[in-house]
Amino acid sequence: MITLKTDKELAYMRDAGRVVAGALKEVDSAVKPGVTTAELDRLAESFIIARGARPAFKGLYGFPSTICASPNEQVVHGIPSLRVLENGDIISIDVGAEINGFFGDSAVTVPVGEVDDDTGLLLKVTEESLYVGITQAVEGNRLSDISHAVQKHVENNGFSVVRDYVGHGIGRSMHEEPQVPNFGRAGRGPRLQAGMTLAIEPMVNMGTHEVATLPDNWTVVTKDMKKSAHFEHTVAITEDKPEILTRL
Ligand code: MG
Ligand code: MG
Repeated sequence: MITLKTDKELAYMRDAGRVVAGALKEVDSAVKPGVTTAELDRLAESFIIARGARPAFKGLYGFPSTICASPNEQVVHGIPSLRVLENGDIISIDVGAEINGFFGDSAVTVPVGEVDDDTGLLLKVTEESLYVGITQAVEGNRLSDISHAVQKHVENNGFSVVRDYVGHGIGRSMHEEPQVPNFGRAGRGPRLQAGMTLAIEPMVNMGTHEVATLPDNWTVVTKDMKKSAHFEHTVAITEDKPEILTRL
């Protein structure tokens, strides 16, 4: 069942979203060659706790950390570690927080130092595809209008969208119905209504869309080991324009 949020519930989600956005900004500004993903995780965790919120990924299905930190060929669900980021890498950072029983979820991929042109384009197109998707998150549209718009933008630019992982409804839980794929034909799925809240999150690969999971049972990598990027916002459908909840 897709739950519609009341104004009061949306206000709590805005609070959670603001904490997530702040944590991402904090982590983003600490990304540089020489830093470890474990250091980034600690920064995010202190930031979230200092604001009276709870790191929502820690313990979720047994995940051990506050952020998912997925460099280069890692698509999503990378576990923060002593891995040192190097010039030319990219790092996807995914953060979730809960406050007053409501959740926010957002991700960005950032360059470490200087990246090559193809990699820069991957980041640009993936971020654009998120906003192209958000533009479709309006009352009266169908859910797959979002999916289709994301896929079209990505593939028009020569990249591929991951099929095995998708966006999701969010609110009182991190993952609610419906699933929000980043691919598919337009005009399908539930009709979007004011009060729905969705985490829209294109995962975009430089090469094949196929992915595999590492033996740690968490880390998702591209099958061809080429780079992958991930951008995500928690968005509310309103009677007017879509409202991005995970922003400062
Ligand atoms: Mg996320
Ligand atoms: Mg998500």
